[in-house]
Amino acid sequence: MIEAFAHTSYAGRVVFGPGSLHQVAAEVELLGIRRALVIATGSAGQAAGEVQAGLKERFAGRIDGVRQHVPTEVAQAARTKAQEVQADGIIAIGGGSAIGLAKAIALTADVQIVAVPTTYAGSEMTPVWGETSGGSKTTGTDVTVLPKTVVYDAQLTLGLPLNVTAASVANALAHCVEAVWTEKANPITETTAVEAARALSIGLKQVIQSPADVAARGNLLYGACLAGSALASAGTGVHHKLCHLLGGTYNLPHAETHAAVLPQVTRVKAVEVPRAKARLEEALQTDDLATGLFDLFEAAKVPTSLQALGLTREQAVEAAHRFPGDVEEILTKAWAGTRP
Ligand code: NAD
Repeated sequence: MIEAFAHTSYAGRVVFGPGSLHQVAAEVELLGIRRALVIATGSAGQAAGEVQAGLKERFAGRIDGVRQHVPTEVAQAARTKAQEVQADGIIAIGGGSAIGLAKAIALTADVQIVAVPTTYAGSEMTPVWGETSGGSKTTGTDVTVLPKTVVYDAQLTLGLPLNVTAASVANALAHCVEAVWTEKANPITETTAVEAARALSIGLKQVIQSPADVAARGNLLYGACLAGSALASAGTGVHHKLCHLLGGTYNLPHAETHAAVLPQVTRVKAVEVPRAKARLEEALQTDDLATGLFDLFEAAKVPTSLQALGLTREQAVEAAHRFPGDVEEILTKAWAGTRP
């Protein structure tokens, strides 16, 4: 039986397929953008050059200085640049950091975003923004920052190093696993999350064997798209809130923190949602969701302990005390990297 539920979907256009980078200029035109500011991560320099050439007279300027977690000074400089060039559109090419910077501009200016993701973080599908100031990260939800169009081109991801790939997939898996137990979880987010987990686990195994396989990379981008969409509608729960605290307070790397914490939170939370747990186990081809995730990350050589990321035992204890909820056992095990 399907229980009563409410679901909010975040509408945007998705253009998916190898080589779709060439469609960016046409998508910009479709949105009616006249002055496009291009934001590119270092790794996306060549792709940004191609987009720039395709935009012709619609190209208004470019920003290359992307940094993780959107530091306020970087956001301010980007807002000033957007004003100077009178941008009415932003094209962000890169991982969650490049897309996050585009969102920071959209928060205070009337601009439409076209996102071209090159990792599996999923930010392109969500209305969630973040900005970091004085060592503390503020996040919020605002539909004005949701990209209008997302262009997924697996060819841009063929060179994503395996360690970055695997950690980013762990980040995407965290979106879909948590999407089944949040307060806003519902049958639509659950089905999206299960399909996302299936594509991510198949894609990860394929990419470990063959890192530049465009079909395998396509599976990962498809999974990331669905995972981001599930996160957008289901919202965040204890897992994301805990990773947010750890990342913001102790400056831990975003994706890797998810990998260390997720199996431990899953051990505690998944029992509350037996149907979704069974569906995710089937998708990930494991008998137990928590150990299945842990073993998947170990096999992909993603660190499965917070200790390996540089967190001290004292900091783990301190974080448990700061968190509004009992997470002491979760954090003790995540710090040590104990198989859940
Ligand atoms: P990132 O964007 O910082 O990218 C990680 C590294 O990979 C960078 O050095 C980048 O230059 C490089 N890289 C990216 N694509 C590449 C490619 N195709 N080939 C080679 N190198 C490449 O990291 P991320 O994990 O994608 O994003 C993390 C950020 O996104 C964090 O700030 C996080 O808070 C945010 N985030 C936000 C949401 C949301 O919904 N708002 C969701 C997930 C993550």
